[in-house]
Amino acid sequence: MALYRLIYVSQAVSGIGYLDLIDIMQKSEKNNMPVGITGMLSFGDSMFLQVLEGSRRTVCQTYNRILGDKRHVNPELIEFTEIDHREFGLWSMKAVQIDNHPEIRNTLLKYSYSTTFSPYSMTGNQCLSFLHEIMGIYQNK
Ligand code: FAD
Repeated sequence: MALYRLIYVSQAVSGIGYLDLIDIMQKSEKNNMPVGITGMLSFGDSMFLQVLEGSRRTVCQTYNRILGDKRHVNPELIEFTEIDHREFGLWSMKAVQIDNHPEIRNTLLKYSYSTTFSPYSMTGNQCLSFLHEIMGIYQNK
């Protein structure tokens, strides 16, 4: 069956913090694993950047459900594409906080114009490479 990857960015509503991220991650693990969705969710500077991988139907169903969540606004689809293999296959949804750790901010600067997390202005390839490197940093932590 064909595999798809979807990347989107959205803005957290005011008051969203680490505890909400934990709640989202727990729900995601519960819902994503049975339907074969994998991916990564990053959160920082009031922005969400998420990648979802799986079958076309499950990726679309999950994305449509996420779009209805009142904890974020102004979603923008960055990429929806067929892929040969998963990049984030180890995780039903890994949530990471883009904090002020120098290694994370340096990785951000590598793929965008400043050290502020602003994925609205990043390309799909930049988002993917950024998430990939962040995944490596967190795997080694
Ligand atoms: P319930 O948890 O019972 O939720 C029912 C309804 O209440 C939903 O409409 C839900 O959006 C809303 N809701 C639940 N908790 C809150 C809250 N604290 N504040 C406001 N509204 C709330 N879900 C996944 O399954 N997979 C993902 O990969 C995923 N990624 C997400 C990424 C982001 C950035 C956000 C904001 C949410 C994400 N979610 C994800 C959560 C998703 O939007 C739904 O909340 C969740 O899938 C619904 O889980 P449930 O079916 O168990 O229903």
